[in-house]
Amino acid sequence: MLPVFRQMLRQLRAGRRFSLDVLLDAADDHMHQLETVVPPGSGALPRTPFESGLPRERMALTKIRGADRLRVARRVLPILAHMRLGANLYGTAAPARRSEASAADIDELVDRARRLGAKDIAFVRVPPDAIFAGKSIPHPYAIVFTVEMEKEPIDSAPSLECQLEVMDGYKDLTTIASALAGFLRQRGFSAFPGTALGGTTDYPHLAELAGLGAIGYHGLLIAPEGGARLRISTIYTNIANLPLRESNEHAWVRDFCAMCRKCVRSCPVEAIFDAPAERGNGGRQCIDHGRCRDYFTEHYGCAICVKVCPFSQVGYERVRERFRGNPTAPRFDIGSDGRVAIPVVEPSEGVRA
Ligand code: SF4
Ligand code: SF4
Repeated sequence: MLPVFRQMLRQLRAGRRFSLDVLLDAADDHMHQLETVVPPGSGALPRTPFESGLPRERMALTKIRGADRLRVARRVLPILAHMRLGANLYGTAAPARRSEASAADIDELVDRARRLGAKDIAFVRVPPDAIFAGKSIPHPYAIVFTVEMEKEPIDSAPSLECQLEVMDGYKDLTTIASALAGFLRQRGFSAFPGTALGGTTDYPHLAELAGLGAIGYHGLLIAPEGGARLRISTIYTNIANLPLRESNEHAWVRDFCAMCRKCVRSCPVEAIFDAPAERGNGGRQCIDHGRCRDYFTEHYGCAICVKVCPFSQVGYERVRERFRGNPTAPRFDIGSDGRVAIPVVEPSEGVRA
């Protein structure tokens, strides 16, 4: 039985409060079936907890009734089913026959990902500090991909409609990750899907290192395809010659953020920092999660910061066309860990094409 279901049953039998964090930790247990794993680095940080500690009666999802419960169940059950499929792949790992991919392999992988609904896909060698403390990954290479959430439901944030759209995003991530891992295995490689919800690595950080986009002041990925309305997941693989992007052309996004700060002003609990801070593991700390969590739980996962972001409203290219640079913006490197060489593109190069 999938560890996550076992853990759920244990919690129910013991009459304990439902704990998403305990369930997600249980979901990571499938990693223990592997003989070798990549451990976190010495600068690794723990995964940010989801739970708020709010009393049950104040949690938004406990207040929904009737047909809305059914709508939630229609999303949650496929997510759990696909998590189970993905976890099964950890117990059925055949020895890899190949560790070098041809250009045709990569082309077909990218093509499949897009046909399955991925918005964009890129590759990264995972810096050990991007693995959460106490967790691990099967291989040091990751395929990172995004899916887009529709504008209309996100525009209704905070609302049940918005949270259902977020759930749809997770459902798509689990489906695509399992399908792509299966495809790579058929081609003779080793491949394991990351978990869409939670996961053992810092996904926005990996997406930025892979060159998909840049992390905005709200702590979320901003990318040409999908703007800020994105969700991210991974597939870990033994393919040693993945086509890593040489540069990240999206550093200008944070120069724009330094002028905009709309999410900072719009957050109802002032959880978003005036400017991101270095986290110490190569990633960015943009939000006081302790402040965000209660409002998030009480208001259907909130997402006001996603909704108000100009990249969600008018898209990446429109913002880029109008932006003329910000020489006074604080400078943030991308890929400063030394293991993934991604030079910063000066704002002027990024915006005055
Ligand atoms: S709302 Fe503005 S400051 Fe916040 S992430 Fe979006 S562009 Fe950046
Ligand atoms: S999700 Fe809501 S509460 Fe949390 S940082 Fe964004 S706007 Fe603030």
